[in-house]
This record gives sequence, C-alpha cells and structure tokens, in this order.
Amino acid sequence: MEVKIAKYAGYCFGVKRAISLAEKSLSDQTKKVYTLGHIIHNPGVVNRLDKKGIQALSSEKDIPQHSTVVIRSHGVCPATINRIKQKKIHIVDATCPYVKNAQKKARLLGSEGYFVILIGRKDHPEVIGIKGQVDPQNIMVAETTADLKAAADKKRVGMLIQTTQTLEKLKEMVDLVLETASEVKIFNTICITTKERQNEAVKLARKVDVMVVVGGKNSANTTHLADISRQENKQTHHVQNCKEIKPQWFKKASTVGLSGGASTPYTDIVAVKQHIEAMQ
Ligand code: SF4
Repeated sequence: MEVKIAKYAGYCFGVKRAISLAEKSLSDQTKKVYTLGHIIHNPGVVNRLDKKGIQALSSEKDIPQHSTVVIRSHGVCPATINRIKQKKIHIVDATCPYVKNAQKKARLLGSEGYFVILIGRKDHPEVIGIKGQVDPQNIMVAETTADLKAAADKKRVGMLIQTTQTLEKLKEMVDLVLETASEVKIFNTICITTKERQNEAVKLARKVDVMVVVGGKNSANTTHLADISRQENKQTHHVQNCKEIKPQWFKKASTVGLSGGASTPYTDIVAVKQHIEAMQ
C-alpha cells in the first residue's frame, strides 16, 4: 500500500508565526505569558505550549495586569484590544496578515456604506474578530444560504469570507445576493495557503483509494479539507491522531492520501503515515 502526503499540508505560515511569537515572548521573564483562547485549534500543541509556560485563557477578564497576552492568528475585534490596553497588559499581536487584510476590507466596506455580509462560521473567533470591525447594525454573518434571507432588503451589499472557507461557498452566496441587491462589492479574502491545501487535497483525493485528513475536529480549515476531499472521494476520514485510525478502512486500498489542516503539525501527519504503513 502506497501512502502519500499532499504537497501542501500541515502548519501554515500564519500558525508558525503565531507560535514563534508566543515562544519568543517567553524571553521577557518579568512577565507571565498568556494566549487569549487556544493559539491554534490543536490540543497537542496547546498542551506543549502550556508546559513551556504559555497558558491559554478563555476570557480577557482573566488576564492579570502587567502580563503579556498573545493575540492568536485568528485576531480579535478593536473593542477587545482597547479593553486589554486599559489593563496595562503587554500585547503581542500574532494576528495573521491574511486575517488583518480581511479585517481591513470589512472596515473599508463599512466605511463606504455597504451592508456587509461576512460568510463564515458564526462562532469562529476569526469571524467574531472581523465582525467587530464594523458597526453591528451594518454587518451580518452568513453561515448558510438560509441566513441570507435577513439581508434580502439590502440594495448595496459588500461581501467577504472567512479566510479558511472555500471558493465554492463564496460563489454560491454571491449568486444568491445578486438576485436581490443592486450593487455588490466582493472581496475574496480566502488565504492563499488555504487555497493551496484545498487544491492539493482535491488532486490527491481523486487519485487515491482512501483519503485521511489529520487535524483537530474543532479546526475549521481541517474540517473543510475533509469535506472537499469527501466530495471527490467518499472514502475520506478525518482523524485527530493515530488512535482514531481503523484498519478496516484500508482492506481494499492500494493507495492512501494524507493531508492536514493549517493547524496540524507536520509531525502528526508523518506519524499517521507511519502508523498506516505499519499496519500492512
Ligand atoms: S490559514 Fe491562512 S489565514 Fe489562517 S493563519 Fe494560516 S495563513 Fe493565516
């Protein structure tokens, strides 16, 4: 059985940068270091950082004064930054430049008077951070096409999308908005890394008998990778680690493809590869 890893898989540059900035901030030993939320959607990495002294806090209210807080790659809204600054907490901003760009585009659309439709998962921190860039009256998050009904009366609409969503989703939503709005301004804010991973996963899924996507079940981009792989190859499985792999998946397989989301360490993908190879 041949096991192949997709050309682009595992940590993206935004995640690498966030982890590196968090680790560098430990050099100032006068301040304790916290992250606001888990730095990435990967429990193994979060535990490793915790052991080094970088603790994840779920609420900004819990961050002690005079400490350092790392804003993770998902970013936060301006109101959160202002509240943290008022508490005299040192901020290390590890917001991914692609997310910063989406935040900027949301502000631009808002300032130009468009009603903003942000496509993405309502509860995702990146989406909450982008939404917070615009007056709440002038922005909504659309997760599904049904959500667009709430904007059916808006004539000037600006659209953008969570960085890790798919182009198909953006096109589907834009098509529907065009039926009711008279002016639509669209920014494709899907990050290049996400596109590369999705394209390579699709290519590989078409070629192999079984596809395995490795990464946190709470990771949006890993879940999308699994979804789009499944559209090409029904024998697609999303696993967090080797323990979830079932030998019966590979009984009739001669080729297996592997991919992993932007928050998956490459070593996790290699570990899954070795585990599958060892089952032969
Ligand atoms: S997936 Fe893209 S937007 Fe998200 S952190 Fe990585 S590079 Fe940045």
